[in-house]
Amino acid sequence: MGLDPLGLEFESYSVPEVTEELRQQTGPAYRLSASTASGKMKIQSPSKSSSSEVLEEARALGDKVVLSKTDTSVVALALDLSKEGKTPVIVSDDYAVQNVAEALKLNYQSLATFGIRQKFNWILYCPACFRQYSNGETQDCMICGTKLKRKPIDKEAARQRSS
Ligand SMILES: [Zn+2]
Repeated sequence: MGLDPLGLEFESYSVPEVTEELRQQTGPAYRLSASTASGKMKIQSPSKSSSSEVLEEARALGDKVVLSKTDTSVVALALDLSKEGKTPVIVSDDYAVQNVAEALKLNYQSLATFGIRQKFNWILYCPACFRQYSNGETQDCMICGTKLKRKPIDKEAARQRSS
């Protein structure tokens, strides 16, 4: 849905089912393969025990919470990672996913919020002539050709920028 794992500052994981679903779509499939090739995103299957824990939890939450096979795997993988001592954040706009995640005490964030935060977290600039560029626009300065650097921008500046 437009998320680019290459732009993230932390490890990201996905499940084989997602790769399968994205195969038909050029943009997302490209970003995914670029990310896995660079080691930025790991594709991993969840353990059987975590998968059944997730399904049990979903069942306990009732009829309104229906998880697809892909969603089940995503939540189960997050559960695996948290058992390994990591603090995963599930990125999903799906109501069922968020509910099950909450029941399992896993962090989640909707893609919209996540995307905006990532987008305004960093700014690209040229270290030679200080021209600023938006993310993904170019890798080298269009004026002097210097390789761009990036720096964090504070949240206040981000808010003003977006309004
Ligand atoms: Zn420049």
